[in-house]
Amino acid sequence: MPTVGILGGGQLGLMLAESLDRLGQDVVVLEADADSPCAQRRSNVISGGPADPGALATFFSRVDVATFDSENTPAPPLVPYASKLAPSLRVLEVTQDRAKEKTFLRDHGFRTVKFELVAPGADVKAAVHRFGLPCIAKSVLGGYDGKGQHRLTTETDLNSLPPSAPGGWVLEEVLQLESEVSCLVARDARSSVTFPIFENLHAHHILDLTVLPARIAPALQDEARQVADGVAGALELVGLLTVEFFIGTGRDGVRRLYVNELAPRVHNSGHVTRQACTVSQFDALARILAGVPVVQPEVHRGAWCMGQLLGEVWLAQGRSGGALDLTAWKDFPDVVDVYVYGKREARAQRKMGHFVVHADTPERALERAALFRQRLRG
Ligand code: ADP
Ligand code: MG
Repeated sequence: MPTVGILGGGQLGLMLAESLDRLGQDVVVLEADADSPCAQRRSNVISGGPADPGALATFFSRVDVATFDSENTPAPPLVPYASKLAPSLRVLEVTQDRAKEKTFLRDHGFRTVKFELVAPGADVKAAVHRFGLPCIAKSVLGGYDGKGQHRLTTETDLNSLPPSAPGGWVLEEVLQLESEVSCLVARDARSSVTFPIFENLHAHHILDLTVLPARIAPALQDEARQVADGVAGALELVGLLTVEFFIGTGRDGVRRLYVNELAPRVHNSGHVTRQACTVSQFDALARILAGVPVVQPEVHRGAWCMGQLLGEVWLAQGRSGGALDLTAWKDFPDVVDVYVYGKREARAQRKMGHFVVHADTPERALERAALFRQRLRG
């Protein structure tokens, strides 16, 4: 059995490591933050970041195969270790760069929103004038949870746009969004499986709730699964890929399914698979890393909702981090799991934990999730 490395020790890395533990794998994590879930909860954590050559050399000397918990893991320092990476270095390079990602999708025939690239140093305001308002300007590198994005509706919004962004800009048409969904693909050298479609609700650009089954037509769900599988195939993926989709109406007035962005890793929307599916996203990736063939995940009966727990819940309880007062849980037998990531410091908007509700219908699951979170806040 190989030793598996994880670049990044956040909650995604922690849950993946737990799945690897159950397969009897040795796991080594590279993480610089002493208040990360892996640093708090695990042994075999090398303290260091992915851009630190010494830490990287030590990490790779100890692992046979390695994956990452963020597409923003810098790619250039990983070049000497490319043969050990799953997903591959190329997949990481494409998915961490919005310009490469959008171009890749378009060149392979996958529908994206209408977009235009603005090279670093080029005049972004002139590009916006050509492209037309309204639009969204997104930084090519480093964005997540809505960071590095600017919604431009009127001429005056252009004044608040920084003159440059890391890697340049992608300008996108603004869709009238009906819903956002995601699809996980697990793919090894022999076969590929897709998970059921999740419906995602965001608050302040951060994933807030994931609902399963998604409340969109079955034909659209099939289309999303096919597209996700096609993208993974085009990337020659070995590992796990999350494909985020928009369902909405663009400048052409037609309602369609669009690929929004890709994450070559387990995803917050996939937390729900730990209870809702026969194989979780973490188990699926653990199998691939351990060389065990993938199997088709099926969803259990009923409806499921994952609710994110941000630092605000701790602060509302008068706590600075660590444990949460779970007294309210006694009134919610339909909350089937609470997972607290173990971060010591609670900050506003920091992902500190999540929970999963099981109910008869998606609406009921959502309603109960909202109520549970409200009661936790006291
Ligand atoms: P990230 O998740 O990396 O911050 P996204 O591209 O997924 O970046 O954008 C974050 C959120 O902003 C999306 O989930 C969606 O709600 C909204 N959004 C992004 N692009 C568009 C668009 N072109 N039209 C409408 N809404 C958008
Ligand atoms: Mg996104």
